[in-house]
Amino acid sequence: AKDPVRVLVTGAAGQIGYALVPMIARGVMLGPDQPVILHLLDIAPAAEALNGVKMELVDAAFPLLKGVVATTDVVEACTGVSIAVMVGGFPRKEGMERKDVMTKNVSIYKSQASALEKHAAANCKVLVVANPANTNALILKEYAPSIPEKNITCLTRLDHNRALGQISERLNVEVSDVKNVIIWGNHSSSQYPDVNHATVKVSSVEKPVRELVADDAWLNTEFITTVQQRGAAIIKARKLSSALSAASSACDHIRDWVLGTPEGTWVSMGVYSDGSYNVPAGLIYSFPVTTRNGEWEIVQGLSIDEFSRKKLDLTAEELSEEKALAYSCLS
Ligand code: NDP
Repeated sequence: AKDPVRVLVTGAAGQIGYALVPMIARGVMLGPDQPVILHLLDIAPAAEALNGVKMELVDAAFPLLKGVVATTDVVEACTGVSIAVMVGGFPRKEGMERKDVMTKNVSIYKSQASALEKHAAANCKVLVVANPANTNALILKEYAPSIPEKNITCLTRLDHNRALGQISERLNVEVSDVKNVIIWGNHSSSQYPDVNHATVKVSSVEKPVRELVADDAWLNTEFITTVQQRGAAIIKARKLSSALSAASSACDHIRDWVLGTPEGTWVSMGVYSDGSYNVPAGLIYSFPVTTRNGEWEIVQGLSIDEFSRKKLDLTAEELSEEKALAYSCLS
């Protein structure tokens, strides 16, 4: 039998956390034969609720779950973890300035970065979910210099999956037959969902999405805004933000990162830019990536038309501004 892997979830008493931890305990994230020990972190006001989550995990009697550490102590939470899913963050409340939210998150991510750097397992893989996800990941990278930058990522897989879902609904095809959409840039409404290289399997032949949809007007406007604004649509409908889909896509992100993407398929991940596609180096930006042996690699050589170029640049500009704002809060 395999040794258990320690997986940290921060903000674990929140609603994404509540959807995410049973998925991890069932093997959705690391595979059905990989035992796990869950490390659940939350802040003191949520300690009692967190303990309730731990009680439910015990009650669910998950065969793969070999232990639960539920704590408000960041060092205890980070000790020995190989996977860290950062869901906790300070939400923007009505009337709050962006700078105030950023200042709070900078201080949260700074302290969690230091704890991960000192106490996590070597080669720990980090996924930031809490918004502003890309910039929180960048702050984490800044304060955990000994964690390789390749190990610090943010979640855009939900946006990626939403794009797959929209194409599947539109064409009335199975979502598993749609692949290679791309989310470029920020996990915000400036992101660019790109279908120019996406395909659908039709009687075992892969056909371009653009050819099958045959409605560029829809693909260039409504499709893009639907994906960009899906989070807001869910809040409107549910009166709560998306949680099960966020949790599920966080599992997809880590699973593909650890276990690899299938040949010929890529996924979207927010990763440290090396300047590919003329995206400024040093931003955490969502790119198409393939993964192998626990390492991601940006898919190279895709053609970028003028329409796409503008959108790639716009979301990069927003991230550069967020970065500048974050750095101004660092002192
Ligand atoms: P959720 O579990 O609903 O969301 C957690 C974070 O994920 C938010 O920052 C949210 O951003 C972000 N997020 C990213 N993508 C998505 C998406 N597609 N859909 C929904 N959310 C997304 O929040 P809760 O308030 O229920 O739980 C947060 C937990 O974090 C609480 O248990 C709280 O105690 C803890 N917390 C920890 C802090 C700390 O570590 N110091 C500080 C504050 C809270 P957005 O809000 O922009 O949607």
